[in-house]
This record gives sequence, C-alpha cells and structure tokens, in this order.
Amino acid sequence: MADLDPSKKVADRYLKREVLGEGTYGVVYKAIDTQTGQTVAIKKIRLGKQKEGVNFTALREIKLLKELKDSNIIELIDAFPHKGNLHLVFEFMETDLEAVIRDRNIFLSPADIKSYLQMTLKGLAYCHKKWVLHRDMKPNNLLIGSNGQLKLADFGLARIFGSPDRRFTHQVFARWYRAPELLFGTKQYGSAVDVWAAACIFAELLLRRPFLQGSSDIDQLGKIFAAFGTPTPSQWPDMLYLPDYVEFQYVPAPPLRSLFPMASDDTLDLLSKMFAYDPKSRITIQQALEHRYFTSAPLPTDPSKLPRPTSKREPTNSNSRVLDLNSNDGPTVLSPPRKSRRVMPDREAFEGNAYRADRLDDHVNEVRELAAGNTSKNEAAPMSLDFSVFGGKPPNRPTINSADRSHLKRKLDLEFQQ
Ligand code: AMP
Repeated sequence: MADLDPSKKVADRYLKREVLGEGTYGVVYKAIDTQTGQTVAIKKIRLGKQKEGVNFTALREIKLLKELKDSNIIELIDAFPHKGNLHLVFEFMETDLEAVIRDRNIFLSPADIKSYLQMTLKGLAYCHKKWVLHRDMKPNNLLIGSNGQLKLADFGLARIFGSPDRRFTHQVFARWYRAPELLFGTKQYGSAVDVWAAACIFAELLLRRPFLQGSSDIDQLGKIFAAFGTPTPSQWPDMLYLPDYVEFQYVPAPPLRSLFPMASDDTLDLLSKMFAYDPKSRITIQQALEHRYFTSAPLPTDPSKLPRPTSKREPTNSNSRVLDLNSNDGPTVLSPPRKSRRVMPDREAFEGNAYRADRLDDHVNEVRELAAGNTSKNEAAPMSLDFSVFGGKPPNRPTINSADRSHLKRKLDLEFQQ
C-alpha cells in the first residue's frame, strides 16, 4: 500500500544517529540527510495532543530563524512534524564555546579570544539589526563548526524588540549572564541585555571559568556589585524605579585589572563599556565591534586556525590567582528583596487576568500558516501546549531559574501572542 503520510516521507530522508545533547526544550540528534549526504543536527520537540494548543517556544524558534540568515547564526535547514514531534533540522556543529573554555588542553591566546568574541558579536549585531533579541546568550549556545566558525544557536527565547512600550518578561537568560536591569525586574528592555551577556562571555573566555556565578538573583546582583561597585543613582538614575529594586550596602569597585590581571588595556576598556550599569550608556554591539580592541595587535585569529577540543568536555576547574568574586558574598542587601523598597507599583501585564483568549485564537491561525510553510503544502502543523518539554534533565549550569520555569513558559507564550 502506498505511504500516505507525507511527514513520514520527510522523516525517512534523515538517518538518525546518536544523541548530541538535550536542551531545555528538546533532545538533539545527529543525523545524515540521505539525499545530500550532509550531516545534520535534528532537534526533536515533543508535541502533545492538538487540543492542548501550541508549543510557542518551537514556533518562535522557527519563525525567527527563518528570517535570520547570516554566517554567524545557525542555519535552520528544514522543519517537519512526525509522530507527534516537531523536528527542526539544523546544520551540524562540531562543538560549542563552553567545551572550548572548559578544555584544559586548550591554550587560548589573546588573538583566539578576540576571534571568538568577534564572531559572537557579529552574530548578535546581525540579530539586533533585524530587531531580534537573543535573550539566552551563554557559551553553550554558541556552536562551533568544523571550519571554526562560531554561530549563535537556540533562539527559543529570542524575540522581536523595538516598540518602546512593549513589556517583556525579565526571566530570561541563564542567571550568570543576566543584566542587572533584568535582575531588578525591568519589563522594558532592549539590546543592552544581550550586550551584558556577551560581556560575561568575554570575561569567561579571559578567566576560563564563568565570571559571576550567583546562586540566586539577589546573590547574582551581589556578585555583580562586588565586581563593579554598588551602582549609585547618579551612575544609573532609572535603577531606583525598577520593579524589584532593592538597596544594597555600598561597596566601591575594585580595580578592573585585579579581576583580569593578564588583560590588555584595550580589553579592559571594552569590557568596562560592555559592563556599564545603565543600559542607556552601555556600548551597543555595533560600537563594540568598532572598538580599537579589534583593530589593535594581535589581530583576531582566522577561524580555521582556532583551537578546538579533541576530547570530551571536562568539568571546570577554577585555579586562578585572580580575585575570585565567587568565593565571597559581596555587599549585603539593606532592604528586603521585592518588598519594602518597591518604589513603583508592579504593573506586570502578564500576571493575573491579562490573558486574552481572543488573541490566542488569532495567533494559532498565524502559527498554522507559518509552520505549514515549513512542512508540506497541504498539511496542518500539529499544535501543542506541551509543558512537559520544559521538564528536561537539569543542566549542570543554571539556565532559567527552575522556580521561574512554569511562570516563564506562560509569560513567553503570552509575549509571543502580542
Ligand atoms: P539546544 O536545545 O539548542 O540548547 O541544544 C541542546 C544541545 O544539543 C546543545 O548543547 C548541543 O550540545 C547540541 N546541539 C544543538 N544544536 C546542535 C547542532 N546544530 N549541531 C550539533 N550539536 C547541537
């Protein structure tokens, strides 16, 4: 009997191999495209029953990646539904920046660090030019191909920005990469949040371990303030009006050089501009790319000559002699978190009864067309609001606060409908 299932035909095209990894939202397999012989990576996202609704995270990733075509952004080759799962087919990438940073057999020269940072910023600059925020920048979302090219991946949390009165959820980014305005609960933010995360990645390349490893949001702020001094209102006037603002004990900034003893003056200058407290005065990605750090010697290493891991990932072993912010507690909070120091009512639009079913219906139709465009012509895409895909195995680094996760899922879905 003839096979009437078109999605099976598409699925048969790919020969599944080993599991490559598991992200927050699905398992990723290595596979061979039998039509082209190309090795690909397939992200399998489980979809529930149609009546459960839409898995917006997957659809968000498809929608954005369809628009983003750049040499420093992962290529989405194909997307198709099969056996209740949505499959996203990506170009295969050999390793990621976290594996490079962790590999003790790798020596990263200043030119190598410059090259990895430049590719990261180029990918981000392209996103920002297209008004897309990544919102989950961290070393293991920066994939590296066999030619050494670094590409931004995992656009599950990404979204369009630009409209000044849009309110977004602040529960984005793995905590260690979260900008202070997000930690203070801002709902209106822009590309500066990706700049902060890129600065954390820059610092991690220099130190070979995560720079600011907070164990809670308040602890994260404490670590940031221990590194750069407690911000003053004159330095960051809007800080006092942020929804979750809490006052911290004042501590002065230690010299930046004490944190990065081996770094050049240009490195420290760029780092300090990327780590500016006030998002309005933080350097943009484009300005960072034009910073003299990238044109002064040594020039960035050609990507094909960059060192890459030969063995499996190793656990991070921090044995540096530099001032270690993660072993001390940083400044103390002077006012109770999220209570008495609220100087502005929390007008979180997504809480309570802000859910609007009519907009969800509109959006489902839009999403059907979108996903159908990526599958076969006459096929309606399977829809799901399958929250179970958010309960994957715990990552070895904090990603999104686990306590925030179910809240975040709902907020992201509502955000997607705006
Ligand atoms: P993600 O859900 O995108 O965070 O992916 C989970 C894991 O799968 C990553 O940490 C990588 O180890 C692996 N992975 C994701 N995409 C690719 C790819 N295009 N090529 C190779 N490995 C990948």
